[in-house]
Amino acid sequence: MPELPEVETIVRDIRPAVLGRTVARATLSHTDVLRGVTRRTLLRGLAGRRIDDLFRRAKHAVFVLGDRRLVVQPGMTGALLVCEGALDAEQARYAVLRATLDDGRTLVYRDVRRLGTLLWLDSRGWTRYDAAIGPEPLAEAFTVEAMRAAVGRTRQSIKKALMDQRLLAGVGNIYANEALFAAGIDPSREARRLSGAEWTSLHRETRRILSAAVSGRGSTVRDYRTGTGGQGKFQLSLLVYGREGEPCVACGTPLAGTHALDARITVFCHRCQA
Ligand SMILES: [Zn+2]
Repeated sequence: MPELPEVETIVRDIRPAVLGRTVARATLSHTDVLRGVTRRTLLRGLAGRRIDDLFRRAKHAVFVLGDRRLVVQPGMTGALLVCEGALDAEQARYAVLRATLDDGRTLVYRDVRRLGTLLWLDSRGWTRYDAAIGPEPLAEAFTVEAMRAAVGRTRQSIKKALMDQRLLAGVGNIYANEALFAAGIDPSREARRLSGAEWTSLHRETRRILSAAVSGRGSTVRDYRTGTGGQGKFQLSLLVYGREGEPCVACGTPLAGTHALDARITVFCHRCQA
C-alpha cells in the first residue's frame, strides 16, 4: 500500500486544486470501502461542504470539511485525482467516490481492487483516531529520543515495530526494509535491544530515505500513481526492496529474502546487517 512518501506526493499534487472548493454533490459506486459510515451519511455530509484543508497523516489523506474529516487510506490500487470536466472511460471504470466541485472539476477516489478505506469523522472521532497513530517521522519533534521512546520499548522485531502504525506513522514494508539496510541493522533484532548508536543511525537513515522518497515523488513498484497520474521515481533508488538474490550494493553478497519475520517480504544482507 502507499506509504508516507506516496501519500505525501498525492496530497501535495491535488491540494492546490481542491483547497477552498465546495463539494457540489458526491456519488459512491461501492460501499465496501466505507468504515463506520453509511453511504447516505457520507454523501449528505459532503454535499455543500467546503474543503478547508488537506493534509497527510501516516498513510492517510485527510480532507478537512468544516468540523468533519474525510480520511482516505488508499489501498494497493487506490489513487486520488482531480479531473477536469467529464471522466474518461478508464477514470470512470474504477471511480469509487466522485465529488463534483463548485468549479466543475471532479475529485475522484479510484480503486481497482477496493482495498482502500474511507472514514467520515467528527472532531472527537478524528482526535481519537489521530491519537491512536504514532509520531510522524519527518516532524521536527521526531528526535532520536522520540523515536526510541516510540519504537524501542517492544519485544517485537525492529522491522515489525517500524511498520506498526500505532508506534510510528507512515512507514510500511518498502521503507522499513530500506531504512534497516541503510542503518546496517538486522531486521529480526528485538527493537528494545538496539544500542544507542544503532538508534542514532536508524533515526538518521529513516528520515533521510523518507525525505528522499518524497523528493522522488514516491516509489512505483506496482500500481501507485501520483496525484497527477504519473509514476514515482524513487523505486530506482531502492537498494534492497524487490532485489532479493541480487548482489548487495555494499558488499556483493546475494541479498536474502524471507517471509519468516512477518507476512511481508523482508530483504536484507546477511553480512551488512548483523
Ligand atoms: Zn552487504
